[in-house]
Amino acid sequence: MLARTDLRGSTPSTAELRATLPRGEVDVDAVLHAVRPIVDDVRARGVDAALEIGERFDKVRPASVRVPGPVVAAALEHLDADVRAALEESIARSRTVHADQRRSETVTQVVAGGTVTERWVPVERVGLYVPGGNAVYPSSVVMNVVPAQAAEVGSLVVCSPPQADHGGWPHPAILAACALLGVEEVWSVGGAQGISLLALGGTDTTGDVLEPVDLITGPGNIYVTAAKRILRGMVGIDSEAGPTEIAVLADDTADAVHVAADLVSQAEHDVLAASVLVTTSPELADAVDAALVEMVAATKHTERIREALAGRQSGTVLVDDVEQGLRVVDAYAAEHLEIQTRDASVVARRVRNAGAIFVGPWSPVSLGDYCAGSNHVLPTAGCARHSSGLSVQTFLRGIHLVEYTEAALADVARHVVVLADAEDLPAHGEAVTARFRS
Ligand code: NAD
Repeated sequence: MLARTDLRGSTPSTAELRATLPRGEVDVDAVLHAVRPIVDDVRARGVDAALEIGERFDKVRPASVRVPGPVVAAALEHLDADVRAALEESIARSRTVHADQRRSETVTQVVAGGTVTERWVPVERVGLYVPGGNAVYPSSVVMNVVPAQAAEVGSLVVCSPPQADHGGWPHPAILAACALLGVEEVWSVGGAQGISLLALGGTDTTGDVLEPVDLITGPGNIYVTAAKRILRGMVGIDSEAGPTEIAVLADDTADAVHVAADLVSQAEHDVLAASVLVTTSPELADAVDAALVEMVAATKHTERIREALAGRQSGTVLVDDVEQGLRVVDAYAAEHLEIQTRDASVVARRVRNAGAIFVGPWSPVSLGDYCAGSNHVLPTAGCARHSSGLSVQTFLRGIHLVEYTEAALADVARHVVVLADAEDLPAHGEAVTARFRS
């Protein structure tokens, strides 16, 4: 069922691996021309433009961008008790993990009389995007809000697309999750126009001021990603979290049905989602294929999953051994990587590139999607080579405090002057020597 790439007996370089491994082309550049006018229109006409553009795509125009408080409170009142309990569990576990990520200030005594202190200062105002196109993600509310709150940002706004069958407000499960987390500001606007409004601010239909944010985080589709690319710099942007990906590194000890279930679970997100099996065992690959045929036919979103598994972004890669498998998964840099091998814990610790690693048979990606305590907003499309998932760190800035005494400055002055002269910037040196002229 999955297309196969056989790397056995070969020693491809990292560049060759990247060219060979299954990976889709999510060509953000191709939609930039369609998204730039949206950003420009919101820049020129603010809320009117955002609501007008949203009506075109979402088929509904909310009465205001800011969701009234009673609408948010009512969503929580009507929330199914089991969903509420599950969200509360997810929030509690997530808070436990993210609380441990907080950083304390470091003070380094460089020399006598000279210190460099690193303070971690939360971003003042953040915008948290929660997708709401093909599926609604109350879990993404938890994953965005918990680290932002743990970082103690000054204020935050959750932004999610309006839903035509819910009076133009975001999905009630999203609103309920916001209420559970104590979020006071929720905007009903999605896509590129939502990202633009977060970055630029505006005046709501009610006359309320919608303050722009300093940083935008959260996953979204290609239009959301394109708007983030256009606005990056004027506003901070987390790493690009696009269509979801799972890679499973498995040997002959893995359970084919479990592996297949995990591949299907992520393909369920999107026709562009990627499911990749990297295995030392052709027998396992055959058994996974057989399990997929049955599972895909029996599950709810058959067509979407079938398209995702048949896409060029999905497939099976056969490798000689776990060593080669590790080189493959490092070159691929999956958003989610499962290790289903002997000594999974040891193997997992050797992986260098992945958004999150799920270790052993009892840690499926779906656990991380909802209730592991870890964050599910993770870098996709190979960005795990250079970026991390969302964490408390995303919402903090390290600021250095440099504090030298006269004696400590005098002691190093000649080195500063020499380096300044070497860079042909003598005024830099003068800024030091001027202080010691009587
Ligand atoms: P979304 O909220 O990102 O996008 C919906 C919005 O897109 C709509 O409100 C609409 O305004 C806009 N839009 C639709 N068609 C458009 C067009 N032709 N031109 C301009 N704008 C248009 O929701 P989605 O579409 O469901 O996408 C969510 C994505 O987020 C999926 O790819 C999913 O896999 C991904 N996701 C990733 C993670 C992660 O951590 N990596 C987590 C959850 C979801």
